[in-house]
Amino acid sequence: MAVEAVPGTVLSFEDARRVVEQQAALIHAGASELIDLLVAAGRVLAEPILADRNLPPFPRSTRDGYAVRSDDVAGIPTTLDVIGEIKAGESVENIPKQVRAGQTASIMTGAPVPDGADAVVMVEYTSQQGGRVAIKKGVDAGENIVPSGAEAKKGSVLVDRGRCLDAASIALAASAGKSRLQVFRRPHVAVLTTGDEIVRVDATPGPTQIRNSNSYSLAAQIQNAGGEPVLLPIAPDEPRKLRSLIEEGLKSDLLLMTGGVSMGRYDLVEQVLAELKAEFFFTGAKIQPGQPVVFGKCTVANASRESRGTYFFGLPGNPVSTMVTFELFARPLLEALAGMSPRKLQFVYAKLQSEIRVKTGLTRFLPAILSGDFEASGVELVKWQGSGDVAATARANCYIVLPPDREIIPAGEFVPIMLR
Ligand code: AMP
Ligand code: MG
Repeated sequence: MAVEAVPGTVLSFEDARRVVEQQAALIHAGASELIDLLVAAGRVLAEPILADRNLPPFPRSTRDGYAVRSDDVAGIPTTLDVIGEIKAGESVENIPKQVRAGQTASIMTGAPVPDGADAVVMVEYTSQQGGRVAIKKGVDAGENIVPSGAEAKKGSVLVDRGRCLDAASIALAASAGKSRLQVFRRPHVAVLTTGDEIVRVDATPGPTQIRNSNSYSLAAQIQNAGGEPVLLPIAPDEPRKLRSLIEEGLKSDLLLMTGGVSMGRYDLVEQVLAELKAEFFFTGAKIQPGQPVVFGKCTVANASRESRGTYFFGLPGNPVSTMVTFELFARPLLEALAGMSPRKLQFVYAKLQSEIRVKTGLTRFLPAILSGDFEASGVELVKWQGSGDVAATARANCYIVLPPDREIIPAGEFVPIMLR
């Protein structure tokens, strides 16, 4: 079968990313399910979580000490009458109705501050003898008290729909009494690896064959981004079989292919997609690794998403290219399918330990190691054999991001890094 060249659109990294973000913005996440709060980490909220009461629900003491009227302790040292003790969870009838001039109540962290008092003096600055306490340090009105509703008002949104649940948002859900949460169903992501040289993980490879590692790194990344991987059989570099597996993959919510998108005679992925009348948003990005990355959308007969079409990425087969292009391009689209609100790709900066020299023209994402601690942390490229070197990448813990117009980056410069 003759290989027809597909007309290419090669974009800068920023433009390619923007194209993906624009498509992601068009996606409306689908079905949701009710799950237990205990297994909600990493899931995406399909409903907002509202405050069922003020947070805090009462004026909360943030210290162990004495609830006072700040005017009473304007001149120190001074001595006050202790009219009661309020512990966290104290029943309402045991809380003094009013702290009057010259009075105070002993109070614990997390306990409700009684009426009349407007500040708490830390126990460290007091000494109690019988029913009297000497106050050795003044306090301003409001000190060591969080007023009722200061953190959130009853009825307000605590966590937005579209938020990926982490420990803090799960803590908020718990405070609002949500033991079960409505979250989006995980999108199914078909993974199709291509290449005559690729064999299954459990096969004994022949002398020129290699085991399929990309499907597994992708499965890990898909799960991390909120999707459910569906591994398809390995596709040979043969158009008919490849086409039927691509058609199979297009029935999922998203199709990720690896390999077969470069310029080689047996790189057939784009050709087969063109036969299927796919729409291509780009067929390359000026990046390293991952230059031949392809992004598009395709509708196949009998597909579940027939009317809207299925997004696909053709990721380059080199294992590091596959991983990097997933993070840069497939992740934001998958997150949108998973119902997550869009977020920008953000880099952090770290001090470069050794000079880097590269050719200009490509935005580079090079495996690197961030080490050291506190102010002494620094980042350095790992030595690698190029984008097939997954061993070097496994030693790395981040990527240094190099803009396309820099040739020499001196040691000591703060460089952007993408954490893994
Ligand atoms: P390709 O993009 O098909 O030209 O493949 C580029 C390189 O990546 C070749 O050396 C392939 O053998 C390798 N490769 C492709 N697919 C995989 C895979 N699933 N697992 C590991 N290596 C792969
Ligand atoms: Mg190949």
